Amino acid sequence: MSHSLKLDNYERPVLHPPTGDRRLLLHSCCAPCAGEIIEALLASNILLTVFFYNPNIHPHAEYEIRKRENRRFCEQRNVPVIDADYDLDNWFVRVRGLENEPERGRRCTACFNMRFERTALYAAENDFSLISSTLGISRWKDMAQINGCGERAAARWEGMHYWTFNWRKHGGSQRMIELAKRENFYQQEYCGCVYSLRDTNSWRRQNNRPRVERGVKFYGYGGLL
Ligand code: SF4
Repeated sequence: MSHSLKLDNYERPVLHPPTGDRRLLLHSCCAPCAGEIIEALLASNILLTVFFYNPNIHPHAEYEIRKRENRRFCEQRNVPVIDADYDLDNWFVRVRGLENEPERGRRCTACFNMRFERTALYAAENDFSLISSTLGISRWKDMAQINGCGERAAARWEGMHYWTFNWRKHGGSQRMIELAKRENFYQQEYCGCVYSLRDTNSWRRQNNRPRVERGVKFYGYGGLL
């Protein structure tokens, strides 16, 4: 990566939200995905509120770790965090029949739909007209799938927009990892749901790798890319 795109040297550009609105409700999935995005938004003086709504995460102890990490980072920067429900039963209803779908398939669409619909509902109830998500920065995700779900959720409310900014570009993916190391974030090893944990462990078994050990891995300080 070019030296000027690295976290320490990067001169952050001023971001311009598509609607001109400077208040943003940002759905966040976890601290590693959120870190780079939050720093980029704060550098542009965007009035940011983080919305943590991820009833997909299994088990509950893992959910609590991911939420705690996200909250820690936000509190250090005075970014308000909305802690939404862990309505797991409804999540299982939404993905019923899709248990064996691969990642980036129809189960993930249902999962994103649910999380973004709740984000848009909170936005509508609290006078936000712009929403977005941290999910798209991960290279494991299908950005078009995420953007489609976000735009559909926003379209349910008049005047609401989903910001489809590509956070991966201009070194964003690499800075995300640099920042995760700098902050010593918890490093989850599967997407989140019980099915992604099952499939990750199944892949590991087939490739003679140890099973996922939850709650133990952190990015660590000062690692070089
Ligand atoms: S793999 Fe990830 S995005 Fe897909 S359903 Fe599971 S938690 Fe949701």
